[in-house]
Amino acid sequence: MSKPLIAFRTERVSGWGMAVGGPAHVARPITSEQVAAAMALVAQQRGSLALRGSGCSYGDASINTAGHVLATTGMNRILRFDSDRGLITVEPGVTIRELWRHVIRFGWWPPVVPGTMAVSVGGAAGLNVHGKNNFAVGSFGEHVESFVIQTPAGGVLRCSRQENADVFHAAIGGFGMLGCFLELTLRLKRVHSGRLRVWGIPVRDLRHQLQLLEDLKGQADYLVSWVDLHGRGAGLGRGLLHRAEQLKPGEDPDGARLFDPTLQDVPATLFGVVPKGWLWPGMWLATHCGATRVVNWARLQAGYREAARSPYLQTHGAFHFLFDYVPRWQWMTKPGGLIQFQPFVPQRQGEEVFGRVIERCQQAGMVPYLGVLKRHRPDPFLMTHAVDGYSLAMDFAVSTNQSRRQALWRLCQEMAEVVLAAGGRFYYAKDAVLDASSFARIHGDAAVAKFRELKRRLDPQRVLQTDLSRRIGV
Ligand SMILES: Cc1cc2nc3c(=O)[nH]c(=O)nc-3n(C[C@H](O)[C@H](O)[C@H](O)COP(=O)(O)OP(=O)(O)OC[C@H]3O[C@@H](n4cnc5c(N)ncnc54)[C@H](O)[C@@H]3O)c2cc1C
Repeated sequence: MSKPLIAFRTERVSGWGMAVGGPAHVARPITSEQVAAAMALVAQQRGSLALRGSGCSYGDASINTAGHVLATTGMNRILRFDSDRGLITVEPGVTIRELWRHVIRFGWWPPVVPGTMAVSVGGAAGLNVHGKNNFAVGSFGEHVESFVIQTPAGGVLRCSRQENADVFHAAIGGFGMLGCFLELTLRLKRVHSGRLRVWGIPVRDLRHQLQLLEDLKGQADYLVSWVDLHGRGAGLGRGLLHRAEQLKPGEDPDGARLFDPTLQDVPATLFGVVPKGWLWPGMWLATHCGATRVVNWARLQAGYREAARSPYLQTHGAFHFLFDYVPRWQWMTKPGGLIQFQPFVPQRQGEEVFGRVIERCQQAGMVPYLGVLKRHRPDPFLMTHAVDGYSLAMDFAVSTNQSRRQALWRLCQEMAEVVLAAGGRFYYAKDAVLDASSFARIHGDAAVAKFRELKRRLDPQRVLQTDLSRRIGV
C-alpha cells in the first residue's frame, strides 16, 4: 500500500491568547499536492479541517477542537520578486518578518503590517489584517494583486480583481472558509529610508483622542494611540498617540544604511544586557498583583518625556512591531490567558460608544490592561470588519475561575450589543465571545447570503470549519 501524501498527528492547538483551544489532528504540508490530499482525506472521513498560519489570532479563528488542522507554516518559499516593480509572489506560510527582510534591501516595505511580524501572509489575507495606516491605505487585501487558492470542491482557482473576482473579494477576509491560499502576489510600497519620523503626543481624554485622529489623518502616514483604560472622569480615554511619517528621498543621510535588515529587527535584549525573553515573569507579577494601573500611569509619564524629544527617527521594524519587543509577553496572563475585544465603530458614534464601553468595564471591575485606538476606512471585501470610523482594541486577562471567566464573557457580550446597535462591527482575529446572532448583524443579510452561496459552491461538504465558524454559525 502506498504511503498517504500527508499525515496528521494529535496536538493541543490554542488561540494565541491561550484562553481557548483543545486537542486536534494537525498536519503541516509543504506542497500544494499535500494541501489537496489533506482536504480530500478529511472530506472522505466526513471530518472538518481548519486552515492555520502562524496561529497569531487571539481567539478561535484557526483552531478546530477535536477536528483536523492544516498548518501552512512549512509552505514558506518566496517564489518570485520583481525588485523594480515591487511585486512579490510568496507561499502562504511566509511570515511578515521574512517578507520585509527580503525586500527592504531594495527599498521596499509591505504596505500593511500588523503589530507582530510573526503573522503569515496566508493568515494576513485570511483575516484581511490592517495596520496603523488603515485610514490611509486600507487593509492588507487591497495590496494583494492575485492569489491561487485550493478549494475543497477540488478546483484550484487563480483569483484577482479581473479573474474570479467574487472569490477574490470573499476569500480575502473569508477566515479560511473558502479554500487554502497556495500562493499570493503582493504589491509593495517604496520607502526612501530605513527609518520613519515619529511623534509621541500625550492625549487628555477620549474626545481629544478622536479629534487628533481626525485632524491628523490627512497628513500622517501612520496613527495609533495607546489608551490608559484606568482613566476616569475628565481623564477617561487619556493616553499617548503615535504619529509617523515616511521620509522623502534624500531627507535621511543614514537612511540607506538602515535598509540592512539586521539593523531593523527589534533588539533581543533590554539595555543591551537583559534578554527580553526574561521580561514576561515581571509582567506576570504586575498583572497578577493588580499593578496594571501603576504601569499605565508610568507609561503616561514616559509619554510626556517622549513628547519633549519628538519628532525622532525610528526604524520601520521598531515602529511597527512594538508587540515583538517582549517575546512571549502573552505568558504574563498565564494560566488563564487573554482575550481581546476590538469593536469597530462608525465615526459619529465613536465617542459615545467607546465612552460607554470603557465606563462599563470600570463599573464591572474588569479594566483591560491595554487599550489601542486606530482610525479606519471601509474596504471592498465581502466579510469586511472595517468601517469609516475607529476601533478600540481592549486586552483582558482571563481568570481560571469559571464564574469570573463567565462574567468576562457576559461583559463582552453586553458591550458587543452596544456596538452592534450603533452599526459597529467586529474582527474575527480578535474575537472569542460573539454568538451566531451577530454574524448577519455585522455583515448584513445580503453579504452573508452571498458568502454562504460561495461556501456551497467551493466547499459543498463544509470541510473547512473552525471553532469560530461553528460559534458564529457560518
Ligand atoms: C501581538 C499581536 C498583534 C496583532 N496586531 C494586529 C494588528 O495590528 N492588526 C491586525 O489586523 N491584526 C493584528 N493581529 C492579529 C493577526 O494579524 C491576525 O490574527 C492574523 O490573521 C494572524 O495570522 P496568522 O498567520 O497567525 O494566521 P492564523 O491566526 O493561524 O489564521 C488566521 C485566519 O486565516 C486563515 N488562514 C490561515 N492560513 C490560511 C491559508 N493558507 N489559506 C486560507 N486561509 C488561511 C485561518 O483559517 C484563520 O481564519 C495581531 C496579533 C497578535 C498576536
